[in-house]
Amino acid sequence: MRRVSVFGSTGSIGVNTLDLLTRQGGAEAYQVVALSGGRNVDLLASQARSLRAELAVTAHEDCLPALRAALHGSGIEAAAGQAALVEAAARPTDWIMSAIVGAAGLAPGFEALRHGTTLALANKESLVTAGPLLLAEAERHGARILPVDSEHSAVFQALVGEEMEAVECIIITASGGAFRDWPLDRLATASVAEASSHPNWAMGQRITIDSASMFNKALEVIETKEYFRVDPEMIEVLVHPESLVHALVGFRDGALMAHLGAPDMRHAIGYALNWPERAELPVARLDLAQIGRLSFRAPDLARFPALRLAREVMEIGGTAGAAFNAAKEAALDAFIDERIGFLDMAHLVERVLAQMSTRQGLGNITVSLDNVMATDAEARALASEFISTGRI
Ligand code: NAD
Ligand code: MG
Repeated sequence: MRRVSVFGSTGSIGVNTLDLLTRQGGAEAYQVVALSGGRNVDLLASQARSLRAELAVTAHEDCLPALRAALHGSGIEAAAGQAALVEAAARPTDWIMSAIVGAAGLAPGFEALRHGTTLALANKESLVTAGPLLLAEAERHGARILPVDSEHSAVFQALVGEEMEAVECIIITASGGAFRDWPLDRLATASVAEASSHPNWAMGQRITIDSASMFNKALEVIETKEYFRVDPEMIEVLVHPESLVHALVGFRDGALMAHLGAPDMRHAIGYALNWPERAELPVARLDLAQIGRLSFRAPDLARFPALRLAREVMEIGGTAGAAFNAAKEAALDAFIDERIGFLDMAHLVERVLAQMSTRQGLGNITVSLDNVMATDAEARALASEFISTGRI
């Protein structure tokens, strides 16, 4: 039986992953090694029971007694904390879903690669903060990273059987998020509730707000550069409000290969789960005659500065991705807590990046796990200093 683990099983990607594992035979077909979650220990325990997992890990040590109680009598091990997550990722496994949100997902995924496990990577922050490190580690241990972000899964699929030398450009699409057509002055007053509803995709709150600010697309541009090892100039973003074309690959003979599908993450998750085969998946089939037309337009960099910042991050290199992501996470926390406004998020990230790249020369820092963590901590500290002193 294939041994699998799901990190972040209680989140949006995690629940969709367990849905597919269950449809594909559940505990009869898979040996589920570890599941992990946050404070939602009842959901985590019920997932672990229904898939007969060996271990359930909560990220929070204070949640351990509640998790133990919820697992009582099941024979399933309980553990808590960051070290326990890494330990769980070290257990012999054939396939691991990395679906923790934020930079917290890096360490368990990195550990899985060190053990040669195939890593289905939804946690884009891992590639943004430590792309070269992850790819080198995967190569060293013969491990494979399979992209789970819908755009990157689409590119990956469009590249099957192709040589990278023949690729001219990679175009990832953006729905435009909740504020696609909002003018700049209205964006300044956007509320958390307004930013938390996505027109096309059902996702966790953080990535939904990142979609509204286009920080999600900014992370994805960097993710594209890191995963496919292409020049930043080859990567384009196209606003496509219907979210049916997920990405396109342009080849040197002028051909454009597009990937289309319903906006349902179970496609990308299922592709990574069954790769290199394709299994039947419970996603809606597109009726193109009914849909009638698809539309595309260029993104507006004035209203969505995150995309411009992503270009700067790629130019700086080194641990700039870690600084960018950590400042973005801190800015997002502050926006969710209503300490800063919607547009302040980009201002804050830009400030942190500017200060850190001049002061420490981020571009010259080697991308090691320690340096990434140190840059991450520094960027968060700087962001909170800027917020508390009102320098945004
Ligand atoms: P979510 O918020 O719904 O779930 C996050 C999961 O991570 C939960 O299980 C939560 O308990 C856990 N978690 C949160 N903070 C943690 C911490 N500090 N330590 C350990 N565990 C923690 O998020 P999501 O929307 O499922 O997204 C997960 C990842 O997948 C993100 O990196 C996101 O960018 C990426 N992604 C998501 C989608 C989507 O459709 N939701 C699409 C593409 C990529
Ligand atoms: Mg995506």
